[in-house]
Amino acid sequence: MNILVTGGAGYIGSHVTLSLLDKGYNVIVLDNFSNSSPKVMNRIKKISEKTLKVIQGDILDSALLATTFKEHSIDAVFHFAGLKSVAESTNQPGRYYQTNVTGTLNLCQAMITARVFNLVFSSSATVYGEKHHMPLRECYETGTATNPYGRSKYIAETILKDLAAATPQLKIAVLRYFNPIGAHPSGLIGENPSGIPNNLLPYIGKVATGQLPELCVHGSDYPTIDGTGVRDYIHVMDLAYGHVKALEALSDRSGVSIWNLGTGKGYSVLEMIEAFEKSSGCTIPFKFGSRRDGDIPASWADISKIQSELQWEPRFSLDQMMSDTWRWLTNNPWGYEQ
Ligand code: NAD
Ligand code: UDP
Repeated sequence: MNILVTGGAGYIGSHVTLSLLDKGYNVIVLDNFSNSSPKVMNRIKKISEKTLKVIQGDILDSALLATTFKEHSIDAVFHFAGLKSVAESTNQPGRYYQTNVTGTLNLCQAMITARVFNLVFSSSATVYGEKHHMPLRECYETGTATNPYGRSKYIAETILKDLAAATPQLKIAVLRYFNPIGAHPSGLIGENPSGIPNNLLPYIGKVATGQLPELCVHGSDYPTIDGTGVRDYIHVMDLAYGHVKALEALSDRSGVSIWNLGTGKGYSVLEMIEAFEKSSGCTIPFKFGSRRDGDIPASWADISKIQSELQWEPRFSLDQMMSDTWRWLTNNPWGYEQ
């Protein structure tokens, strides 16, 4: 089975590519490397001892997509290519809608023209917005995201539903990720943020490796266990395994199937710092700052749907998420560029 992975050089795409190769699928990666390094491909080959094809290109290039589908007998598409920074999306909404919405639509149109009907799509828990009780369930209303990034994912989900209603052959898995962290246990691939990270674990990593002086904890007066924000952190390899399960389930389904990918447990920022310190032996200096605009106090998933429908379970503990992050960071403090 041949699988096209858009954004396969990125953080999540690289780990999913590895899981697909391990399962015996043939993978073709399409990535413009705007937020990743081509060097990740050699790491994937090294770990998997398998080959894969890499196409440097953009999902906004419809001609390239048409050629790619024509030249390869693609059975399914995993769509990770996109922009993901909440803060950046507020300053550059046009760029975010262009890549995340127009890019997704281009890809789907090329798929339908080429009669490729299986798609696994990266969505986000941000589509739920801030109005719900925890844990978040797939049936909860969406569309009240607090930033352009979240709205771009909501619009993309809506487009996928409309396309599936008009094209009954389409089988689409929409996976709503909570907070992916961690790295492949080999320490050879992991998250490689460019610039100053927005997300908690990459920021802690930069403090641990001495590249940033201290962490600012955004908010200490939330109605949570210790006043700091609570999120549902999931090991990236558990996330990757969820994608393989979703693909396998698509053959028996039609239309759009939505699954949360989290662990169902929430941890506060202070709990995360403590867990990282325990695994790494580092001390993470931090100060308390004000709440970050658009942040919600707490977010965690109800994972009963994916557990019962896909027999998927998270397998990695918080300690493993931290120790795998630390192994990746100590082996590659400057990411792939060393
Ligand atoms: P990433 O930035 O590491 O990977 C995205 C990849 O897509 C990069 O390799 C980048 O070069 C590529 N890309 C970007 N624009 C492209 C374009 N126009 N054409 C071709 N390639 C392009 O991000 P990630 O963390 O791996 O996220 C993957 C997907 O998962 C994204 O759609 C993101 O919105 C979604 N997601 C991520 C998180 C998270 O916390 N990491 C959470 C929820 C959802
Ligand atoms: N956070 C923080 N300092 C940082 C980055 C994040 O205190 O430098 C907090 C943030 O306010 C939230 C949690 O860590 O409560 C997770 O933030 P992240 O950006 O990783 O995920 P998201 O908020 O998008 O779910």
